[in-house]
Amino acid sequence: MHTVADRESRCTSIDVQLRPFPYPYRAMLAICSDLDDTPDRHVYWEIMRFLNTTDETSMGPGVRLEVGNSIHFRAQPGIFSYYSTDDAGREMVRTMIQSGHVDCLHSFGECIYTRDEARQALDELERHDCHLEVWVDHGGTVTNFGPDIMQGHGDEVSHPAYHADMTINYGIKYVCRGRGTSIIGQDIAAKFGGIFTAKHPVASGRTLIKELAKQGLARMGNPKYAMHKRNATLRPIALRDERKVYEFMRCNPHWGGVDSCATGRSIGDVLTGEMLARLVERGGTCVLYTHLGRIDDRTVPFNPKAASAFRRLAEESHDGRILVTTTRRLLGYRRALQEVAFTTRREKGMLRIDLTTRTPINWVGVLPTEDLAGLTFYVPDSEAVLLAIDGTPCTDLKRNPADPTGCSSVSLPWSRLEFPRI
Ligand SMILES: [Zn+2]
Repeated sequence: MHTVADRESRCTSIDVQLRPFPYPYRAMLAICSDLDDTPDRHVYWEIMRFLNTTDETSMGPGVRLEVGNSIHFRAQPGIFSYYSTDDAGREMVRTMIQSGHVDCLHSFGECIYTRDEARQALDELERHDCHLEVWVDHGGTVTNFGPDIMQGHGDEVSHPAYHADMTINYGIKYVCRGRGTSIIGQDIAAKFGGIFTAKHPVASGRTLIKELAKQGLARMGNPKYAMHKRNATLRPIALRDERKVYEFMRCNPHWGGVDSCATGRSIGDVLTGEMLARLVERGGTCVLYTHLGRIDDRTVPFNPKAASAFRRLAEESHDGRILVTTTRRLLGYRRALQEVAFTTRREKGMLRIDLTTRTPINWVGVLPTEDLAGLTFYVPDSEAVLLAIDGTPCTDLKRNPADPTGCSSVSLPWSRLEFPRI
């Protein structure tokens, strides 16, 4: 058993290290929802209000998490999209893009086939100063980037749907090309616990075998499953027109498989107490694949089981175990962990950490300072630390007590996004 004194002596000898998550969290999760089948702007707004505020909603008081959403420009008739909603709906979407709560472009949408149509959509966003950095391929859409799973052509220079040059210039930096995993927790070793359940042996056994097969194929060098080998959220890739982006992988850990229960009506079967406990215990990152707008009752979008799941997640978040944020912020944080470099030296009895954001591995351009939010360094003595970012001293460094590892730390502040009042 270690005593506090043991821990202190252990910590004075450690090197300065980046903590995997902002202090005090032990895991990180983003709900990455494709808006497919959201009936109208009222449902879209009610879902966002419930998830991001404490306001009274049709599902009871909101849970005050930080959850983003996606948008595309055209959907099938009767389904919510930017073009099909009314002026108030478009204004709502633009306001939430600007606040960071609509953070994903879910392809350009249905029935958008050409470069010209893609240009019109990007012009609309730019005209309104709406900047999105995350792209998620949408099933069956020609503008997709994914060559294998999603069969897109958006990055093939000679194709009529080619738009990658314009879209990357517009600002897209993170791309999901349909890759999904059942493994609970990324950016840690792949482990298969929590997939098989004795209650559903056949279906969950099949899901487990599929996940094992992905790992096996990845190890044999199959490019379709290469991302599964490292079980990483992010990897730097070049699209087919050689433009650089980060690809990210999503997770749906439901026992029925990655496409099972990925809906608002069934999220109570996904965000279970057991799943959240396993994510914390493993210290993983999760970009959760779902479709929050797939619901049964447009007057009360989340059924009681779904609402309880979000209340459970809110408890994990408010108690400092799981940092729940938007997809964009989670990806930015992961990128910062990969791209920053730092040196340390002693200076007048203080430990000085010099953090550099411009490094040879900046894959998609300069790392924005906002992506440093929450970055936490384990240090021997949190009271005796100076930190400089690209040479500028940091004046709002947070000094944290020891966490369960026994080590204290310093952090750059992490603030919540401000949910807009419309
Ligand atoms: Zn979709």
